[in-house]
Amino acid sequence: MHNLVPMMDFKAQWHETSPELRQALDTVGESGYLILGKEVKAFEAALAEYCSVSASVGCANGLDAIEISLRALGLQPGDKVLTTPLSAFATTLAIIRAGGVPVFVDVDSRGLVDLGLAEAALAADSAIKFFVPVHLYGHSLDLERLRALKKKFQLKIVEDCAQAIGASWRGVPVGTVGQLAALSFYPTKNLGCMGDGGAVLGSDTALISQAAALRDYGQTAKYVHDIIGMNSRLDELQAAILRRAFLPRLKSVTARRRQIAQVYLENIKNSRISLSSLASDCESVWHLFPLLVQGSPEALAAHLSNLNIASGRHYPGLITEQKALQGLHHECVGQLERATIFARTELSIPLHPYMDDSQVARVVDAVNSWKP
Ligand SMILES: *Cc1c(COP(=O)(O)O)cnc(C)c1O
Repeated sequence: MHNLVPMMDFKAQWHETSPELRQALDTVGESGYLILGKEVKAFEAALAEYCSVSASVGCANGLDAIEISLRALGLQPGDKVLTTPLSAFATTLAIIRAGGVPVFVDVDSRGLVDLGLAEAALAADSAIKFFVPVHLYGHSLDLERLRALKKKFQLKIVEDCAQAIGASWRGVPVGTVGQLAALSFYPTKNLGCMGDGGAVLGSDTALISQAAALRDYGQTAKYVHDIIGMNSRLDELQAAILRRAFLPRLKSVTARRRQIAQVYLENIKNSRISLSSLASDCESVWHLFPLLVQGSPEALAAHLSNLNIASGRHYPGLITEQKALQGLHHECVGQLERATIFARTELSIPLHPYMDDSQVARVVDAVNSWKP
């Protein structure tokens, strides 16, 4: 029996990065400073540069990064927020925690929020002033179109870039069109830390200061609380790990992800499986590689599992189908048909930077040999 092909290989990551990780621990330990010190500042600057924005604010996780961004943009309880029904639940949870009312529109053929339907929804309801689009699977939305929507409807946009750090549309990086953008450093993300972490990205000084205050009890200076904030700080240790070990590798990690995706795109051929469509203007970072499976994605998952290959569902249900949303004020525009097809048929196969070519070939063979 072959070794397991996992969705992500944290042991291989540890073996490759442990010298820098030990150095990060030493540096933080020796500094005697554990919260909001030099490491967080240095990481925030390095991250902003990587993402082509003026500044970033480290926080505790991606969920908080979205909530903080919405609150920094002035979201008031009851404000409607346009978003997608096909994402991590955290996208909607952040909107709800900020006091917003989520308004769901269907996705396009790539599984990303449909900007045409978004435009129609915005035209039909002038009460929608906020938008949380998600660059799902590592794919960038059409950023020219997103920019046009922002202008036409004077929209406040928080781009959810949790899966898409480094992705771009015709060379324009994700996270640079919305007033603010959110990242997650959950370990499985393209830039993960060794625990939880997240960041807000932006280029407007006032919004960035507001986000920085919100993540730290609403403090604008020590013991000065002008607004009601939260405790959502990024640890010095996680910041040191990110800047010293993982951020310097992100370019090569992304290049390897793209290489593997290319092999899949060229070689996966099975009449029961389709690849979600691509957009030629999108430079994806391939956080995930989604397949749409005719019949049952569980049957393909079982076949892969028999061959010792992991897989995942992104996502097996719509956010609107979750029990937590029942009885909670939200709106759906139309039937969400395409999102439902993704939810019923999607299966993600392993794609991570520590896969070797023989593992990639095993995944291709396993998918191609599946006969339901
Ligand atoms: C992971 C993720 C989040 C939430 O990030 P956490 O750090 O787990 O809170 C939000 N949105 C998307 C699209 C994600 O993939």
